[in-house]
Amino acid sequence: MENNIIFGPINSRRFGMSLGIDLSPSFKQCNFDCLYCELSPAKTVNAQSKTIEVSQIITELKKHLDTKIDVITLTANGEPTLYPYLDKLIDEIDKIKNKTQTLILTNSATLVDEKVFNSLLKLDQVKLSLDAVSKNVFKKIDRPHATIDTDNIISKVIEFSKTYKGKLYIEILFVHTLNDTKDEIKKLNDVLMKLDVTRIDLGTIDRPPAYPVEGLSYKELHDISLMFNSSLPIHIASRVHAEPNNSSYTDEEIINTLDMRPLTREDIELLFDEDSKKRLEILINKGKIAKKSVSNLEFFIPHAKPLTF
Ligand code: SF4
Repeated sequence: MENNIIFGPINSRRFGMSLGIDLSPSFKQCNFDCLYCELSPAKTVNAQSKTIEVSQIITELKKHLDTKIDVITLTANGEPTLYPYLDKLIDEIDKIKNKTQTLILTNSATLVDEKVFNSLLKLDQVKLSLDAVSKNVFKKIDRPHATIDTDNIISKVIEFSKTYKGKLYIEILFVHTLNDTKDEIKKLNDVLMKLDVTRIDLGTIDRPPAYPVEGLSYKELHDISLMFNSSLPIHIASRVHAEPNNSSYTDEEIINTLDMRPLTREDIELLFDEDSKKRLEILINKGKIAKKSVSNLEFFIPHAKPLTF
């Protein structure tokens, strides 16, 4: 009997009050062996060898589910979509969740499996990871199981975004010298422009990684965010390596910066000096800058900018 299936609730900035379900509570079972994984390195698998019963998960979930929970998050020590009874589990959760949303955090590889693709369509929110487009970069960072063809993953991510009706998030995790090159960012941008998504989170290594790789600073992530098309709903999600930048911005620079990339209050705290923050407040009061909420996060945007996300 596993008693560590449910964890949390955790108040997540990006997803709200989240109750987690670990679909591989005993040990890591993953079809990737990412360099940046916060779990120990492990041989990749394309199926779970140890599984838990749906009834056991539902029994545990019922004990912890209450009205304060915003999302039930399906996750795992590894890849949650390798759980063989995922479809049945989603159906059973739907029967008891009331207004609580369902969310899965997946590395996207199993979208090539029609059964998994269709199961994920039933969820209220889906977060797909997409670290690279080039085959060699993808393989270097995510170290996928030998049976996985990365080209197929990209086309399935595009297809999923066109079919899915819920809130779709994409997460790109940047690793120094691997996927932070101009060439790879351009390729990622080209794919992102084909997607219909709620939000794109840019992250980096926030916890000790499985292998000796380096993350990026907040400033580097911000510079990368400016290399993506300004119509994309990009959010810088990692703040562990954030050092206050304290830069001075004129009124015009504030409007231009927010025109290129809408920023959250936390971004402003890191990037702007005190005088610039005051100038921003005056621009808000004058109606030149507006606030826009995008699923749990509030962004500042120039008032005249068309609301593309
Ligand atoms: S997909 Fe997630 S669990 Fe699997 S190796 Fe990568 S980071 Fe770790």
